[in-house]
Amino acid sequence: MTDSSPLYDALVLGAGAAGLLCAARAAERGKRVLVLEKNNKAAVKVLMSGGTRCNLTHDASPGDIADAYARLAGGAEGKAKARWLRPALARLTPDALIALFAAEGLATKIESTGKVFPESDRALDVQRALLRMVASSGAEVALGEAALSVERSAGGFVVATSRRTLRARNVVVAVGGRSWPGCGTTGDGYAWAKALGHRVVPPRPALVPLTSTERWALDLQGVTLSDVRLRLIEGERGDVRIDRRGSLLFTHFGLSGPVAMDCSRFVTQRPDAIQWRAVLDLAPSVGEEQLQERLAERGGQTVLSLLGEVVPRRVAEATLGQAGVPLERRLAELSRAQRRATVDAVKRPTLRLAGSLGFKKAEVTAGGVDLDEVDPRTCQSRLVPGLYFIGEVLDLDGPIGGYNFQAAFSTAALAGDSVA
Ligand SMILES: Cc1cc2nc3c(=O)[nH]c(=O)nc-3n(C[C@H](O)[C@H](O)[C@H](O)COP(=O)(O)OP(=O)(O)OC[C@H]3O[C@@H](n4cnc5c(N)ncnc54)[C@H](O)[C@@H]3O)c2cc1C
Repeated sequence: MTDSSPLYDALVLGAGAAGLLCAARAAERGKRVLVLEKNNKAAVKVLMSGGTRCNLTHDASPGDIADAYARLAGGAEGKAKARWLRPALARLTPDALIALFAAEGLATKIESTGKVFPESDRALDVQRALLRMVASSGAEVALGEAALSVERSAGGFVVATSRRTLRARNVVVAVGGRSWPGCGTTGDGYAWAKALGHRVVPPRPALVPLTSTERWALDLQGVTLSDVRLRLIEGERGDVRIDRRGSLLFTHFGLSGPVAMDCSRFVTQRPDAIQWRAVLDLAPSVGEEQLQERLAERGGQTVLSLLGEVVPRRVAEATLGQAGVPLERRLAELSRAQRRATVDAVKRPTLRLAGSLGFKKAEVTAGGVDLDEVDPRTCQSRLVPGLYFIGEVLDLDGPIGGYNFQAAFSTAALAGDSVA
């Protein structure tokens, strides 16, 4: 470092969704800001998100977004996360985020699920809008330059990069989590946070497909069901650990789709979770009694044709086959045990899980910098003045549906408006 190296008001580490918005907000306030990005391109995850359409937020009130975080994690953990996130969501609400992009020329649309996408269906347009915000704010961006270490110094921080040593009054850590490490997110922020005295909740994959070796489920590869209830059951007593409803995709490795991915944070949380059973209800809108009545009333119909009315035929074949019920047997000829097995084939087909696809295919990282040590009104460290954490590096993970980008943008706005 030479005495001539400029003193930045803020060095933002990571040019993802959070880092770019934070830099633009701080620079608009006249701060001298430099963003460091290890990739040669900014916002790579924005580009790949939502199947390259970028589901940038959810059509919901700030309170609903916070509640979704509370529901996903559940219990005291969920409530604490929601409470922590509220000030950030109040600073940049989903509506305000949509308006911010609209002002940048990006029109958005709301789909029937509540997910908000660019009207063009192109994630590239979201990335470009973010880059325009940064360019007009006056913040500088250095691509292909990784931050290697963050240390305190008199009056601020010294950041060593792959090219030089930089000085700044404030440092904003926006390097994301550990998921999809192939796109630059290798968890670099955790080591810096720990070295500066922060507690890091052990990172684990979340929003990740679940694996299974259960043949009947693997044979259903490619089948999507729009409404499935998935319960994760532990132990012989059958304690229900998680109970979720949503769309499910059977794959060649196990289960994917929103309902499986939303459950995954629990499977990766406990090493013994692979002992749990996943119990599906393939037609939650059809009551068990309703199904039993149909069984009793339609003696002349075959088992397969009856179940084919409530689930796709291929699914009925697989689950009935697994239950050992003869597909072409007439309902009137079923034994009592076979009748029960027929209902179970729809209402509770069960599979053992083998685990998840891990960080490599996780859309987000659960765990991260402990929220208790970060001020929710500014995203500034409670331990190290001038140090900020925003976005996925924090111990925050939301459900599928645009919630994760919303949290990244909201925490970014808070820090960008706060850096001194
Ligand atoms: C396949 C996929 C699809 C997704 N789809 C959606 C979706 O549709 N909707 C949604 O809400 N969420 C989605 N997500 C999650 C969302 O992408 C993240 O929650 C969000 O990108 C987090 O933003 P961030 O800015 O905190 O981190 P990131 O976007 O991960 O950005 C961090 C940046 O820091 C850089 N970096 C890392 N280490 C260093 C270093 N040492 N020095 C300099 N730079 C560094 C990285 O290269 C990266 O550019 C998806 C994720 C994936 C993987």
